Amino acid sequence: MNSSQTSMPGSVDNATDQMMNFSYTENQKMISDTIRKFAETQIKPKMMEWDEDQIFPVELFRKMGEMGLMGILVPQQYNGSGFGYYEYVTAIVEISRVCGSIGLSMAAHNSLCTGHILQFGNEEQKKKYLPKLATGEWIGAWGLTEANTGSDAMRMRCVAKQDGDYWVINGSKNWITHGITGDVAVVLTRTGDLLDPDGITAFVIERGTKGFRGGKKENKLGMRASETAELIMEDCRVHKSQVLGKVGDGFRQAMKVLDGGRISIAALGLGIAKGAFDAALKYSKEREQFGKPISEFQAIAFKLADMATKIEAAELLIFSAADLKNKGQKCTKQSAIAKYYASEVSVEVATDAVQIFGGYGYTKDFPVEKFYRDSKLCTIGEGTSEIQKLVISREILK
Ligand SMILES: Cc1cc2nc3c(=O)[nH]c(=O)nc-3n(C[C@H](O)[C@H](O)[C@H](O)COP(=O)(O)OP(=O)(O)OC[C@H]3O[C@@H](n4cnc5c(N)ncnc54)[C@H](O)[C@@H]3O)c2cc1C
Repeated sequence: MNSSQTSMPGSVDNATDQMMNFSYTENQKMISDTIRKFAETQIKPKMMEWDEDQIFPVELFRKMGEMGLMGILVPQQYNGSGFGYYEYVTAIVEISRVCGSIGLSMAAHNSLCTGHILQFGNEEQKKKYLPKLATGEWIGAWGLTEANTGSDAMRMRCVAKQDGDYWVINGSKNWITHGITGDVAVVLTRTGDLLDPDGITAFVIERGTKGFRGGKKENKLGMRASETAELIMEDCRVHKSQVLGKVGDGFRQAMKVLDGGRISIAALGLGIAKGAFDAALKYSKEREQFGKPISEFQAIAFKLADMATKIEAAELLIFSAADLKNKGQKCTKQSAIAKYYASEVSVEVATDAVQIFGGYGYTKDFPVEKFYRDSKLCTIGEGTSEIQKLVISREILK
């Protein structure tokens, strides 16, 4: 799957000309159809087993790499799909509509690790890492969060000290998607004074580098097939050629990476909401109580109406942020608004879906229980809802 297979609006070549439109492009339809078939045969039959046992299905991601899903935004010259944000959002939504865990891992790989190297790597680094990441040969990780510094990432304690042509990194990162399995990680470290906006630097570090390893794997409420683990650096020596962009630019880079990443977490939330809604709608027409389908009770019908309204509003906000991204414009406010709204909607819709299923919704025999657990991550990862409100209010009060 790549942007040269069709010449429809939305491919990178003409993304900048594309006005926000309200119908799917041919590319988006093609992505939707392909992923629906893929998810039906490759994800659905196994996802509860992966969820139950916290299995991160690496082989699935290799297949997704072959399909072009691991380098959606990466230009074709680096073996990527060369698509824009409309296609990226569509792909995350369609995967997450079936399994949030796979959607989360796909989003973290594409937006964070790959996205950071794509935006801030030099030509040599792009040639070295992007083709492997874009084809799924390598899985990427991105480490910003630490045990004591989540929302307040600027206070990070992981330190890099220069030693000739090398940097020596000490510290650990927590909650890192693919912290153990990732073949390469972008790691944000302190290279200056505490709270100095020029005091943070990003490094790209390969698995196998001495002093660099994965640590404890988290046992999570939801998103259980997406690996979340500690990343540990102990006297980890990396050559200065592994610095991404300029020394001291890391925090600004990370914030830009998150502007795009938040659109993908919004899409993840939307996909989960759509999956939960589809299941609840179907069930409400089948389940009978008091001699008629429960969808005929106004309490249930109005719940479905609220769910549908929120889903459509979230979708519009996400594509509005995606539109700015495609045009190369600043999207800090719009991506935070989309992320905030879509992730809260995800939790609300998944909660309502469980309610519509009644007791059956509380069991693992029906899909809404998993959507309910998975949805909560969306209001936390890549900045909590409170932090999104902080970002939005700062932007509007400027
Ligand atoms: C499954 C999963 C995957 C993740 N993947 C990654 C990854 O790949 N890479 C990575 O770097 N990180 C990752 N994270 C970390 C994630 O980004 C953080 O958990 C998140 O940013 C919140 O940080 P925290 O958990 O330390 O919470 P805290 O910052 O401790 O926040 C606790 C509570 O306080 C609130 N709060 C904090 N500051 C303020 C404030 N100023 N105003 C109002 N309220 C505030 C928060 O909103 C929250 O409700 C992942 C997390 C999870 C759960």
